[in-house]
Amino acid sequence: MLAEIKGLNEECGVFGIWGHKDPAPIAYYGLHSLQHRGQEGAGIVVSDGEKLKTHKGMGLVNEVFGKGEINDMYGKGAIGHVRYTTAGGSNLLNVQPLVFNSQKGSLALAHNGNLVNATSLKHQLERQGSIFQTTSDTEVVAHLIKRSGFEDVVDQIKNALTMVKGAYAFMFMVEDKLIAALDPNGLRPLSIGRLGDGYVLSSETCAFDIIGATYEREVEPGELVIIDDEGLRSERFSSSPKRAICSMEYVYFARPDSNVDQINVHQARKSLGKQLAQEHPIEADVVTGVPDSSISAAIGYAEQSGIPYELGLIKNRYVGRTFIQPSQELREQGVKMKLSAVRGVVEGKRVVMIDDSIVRGTTSRRIVKLLREAGAKEVHVRISAPPIKNPCFYGIDTSTSSELIASVKTVEEIREEIGADTLEFLSVEGLMDGIGRSKEMENCGQCLACFTGQYPTEIYPDTDHPQEKC
Ligand code: SF4
Repeated sequence: MLAEIKGLNEECGVFGIWGHKDPAPIAYYGLHSLQHRGQEGAGIVVSDGEKLKTHKGMGLVNEVFGKGEINDMYGKGAIGHVRYTTAGGSNLLNVQPLVFNSQKGSLALAHNGNLVNATSLKHQLERQGSIFQTTSDTEVVAHLIKRSGFEDVVDQIKNALTMVKGAYAFMFMVEDKLIAALDPNGLRPLSIGRLGDGYVLSSETCAFDIIGATYEREVEPGELVIIDDEGLRSERFSSSPKRAICSMEYVYFARPDSNVDQINVHQARKSLGKQLAQEHPIEADVVTGVPDSSISAAIGYAEQSGIPYELGLIKNRYVGRTFIQPSQELREQGVKMKLSAVRGVVEGKRVVMIDDSIVRGTTSRRIVKLLREAGAKEVHVRISAPPIKNPCFYGIDTSTSSELIASVKTVEEIREEIGADTLEFLSVEGLMDGIGRSKEMENCGQCLACFTGQYPTEIYPDTDHPQEKC
C-alpha cells in the first residue's frame, strides 16, 4: 500500500468501547490495528462515568502514546481515532476525538468520512454566533448538537444528524454513554463486537481479532447505537436509508483480514483478480502484485489464468515514514526506498503486474520502470478496479478531477504514459461481481461514484472545497 506516494489516501478510522475495566489499552490496540487508515494523528478519550480524559497528538499511535500515557487513563468506556489529513492540514487542533465542555457536561466525538454540506452549515452557524476552534467538518456537528434545543443527548445527536449530509461513521461519548452513528448511505464501514460483558465498535473488524472480541453485527445505515451500563439499544434517525458502501474499501483501503459488511476483503480482492483474468487475459510467464493491497488480486489473477504467482515486488517495511517532497527526484527516490523489484523473479520474463488503482499515473510509471530495470522483458499492467475518473467527496482524498489521469486520458494514452506493454482495467460489472454484494439491493448497495460519476448523495456547491476531511 503506497498511499502517500500514490495520491490515494485512506481517511481515518474510529474505535469505541463501553463496559470494560480497561478501555484505554483496548482502544490503543484497536487503533493500532486501524493505523493503515490514517498516520498523521491519533487520540483516545476515556470516561470513568463522571469525567472525560483525553490524550492525543500528531504521529503514529505508538508515537502518540509512546510515554505510557495510556496507563493513566482509567474508566469504563473510551473512543479513539486515527487521522489522515490533506496537505497543509496537519494541525494538533484537528486531531480527534474532539472534546467540548459545557455546564451540562462534556461531549467527545470522532468521525470517519466527509460531510458534503459542512461549509454551508458552518457559515450558517457562524452567522448565528458560533465560533470554531478547528478547520474540521466534525466540529460543525458538535455545534449542531449543542444548539439543537433538546435536553437529552441522544435527541440532540439525532437532530444534528438530520442536518448533515455526506459520509460519516461517528463515535460520540458523554460521561455515561457511548453513541455511534452511520450515515443513511452507510458509505463507511462500522462494525459492532462483544468483548466480555462490554461492547466494541470499529471501522474494521481486524481490530476485533487483535483485542479478542467477537463480531456481533454491522451498524446499519441511518442507525444510532447507544451503549451504556444498561447495555445496547438502537434507534433510527433516517427514514429512507439506502446502503452505498464505498467500493474502494474492498479494492484498496481495508485490511485483507477485515470483513467489510460481512465480506472478507482478501477473498473479495482475490475474486476481483479472477474477474480481471477473465476479462483481460494475456500470455505471460509470471504474475506479481504491488504490495500490500494488490497481492490478493494478483493471487486471484494467477489462479484463474494458470500463470504462476511470484513475489516480483518487495516492500521495504523498515523505511519508517518519509516526508516526501513534491520534487520529481525525491519522489523517484521515495518509490525506490519503499519498493524493490526482485531481479531473480522478473529477469527475462513477461510479467503481469497487478495493481488496484491508477490515480495520477506517476507511481505506476515508476513501478513499471523498476520492473524493466530488473530485466523484465514485457510488463503487462492489469488494474483490479475500473478507471478512477471522478473525485470522491466522501472522505477519500482522490485529488481533483484534473489530477486524475483517467479523467483526462484514454486507456491507451495512460498505457503510453506509464510505459507498459499493455494496460487493462476491470469493468464496473466485474467489480460488482467480484465483490459479490447482493444484486437485489439497488446499485448493489455500493458506491461506485469515482468510477461512474453517479454519487449516492446530493453534491452541494461547497463540496468542491471541503473542510478539513476525516
Ligand atoms: S466515490 Fe469512490 S472512494 Fe469515494 S466513497 Fe464512493 S467508491 Fe469510495
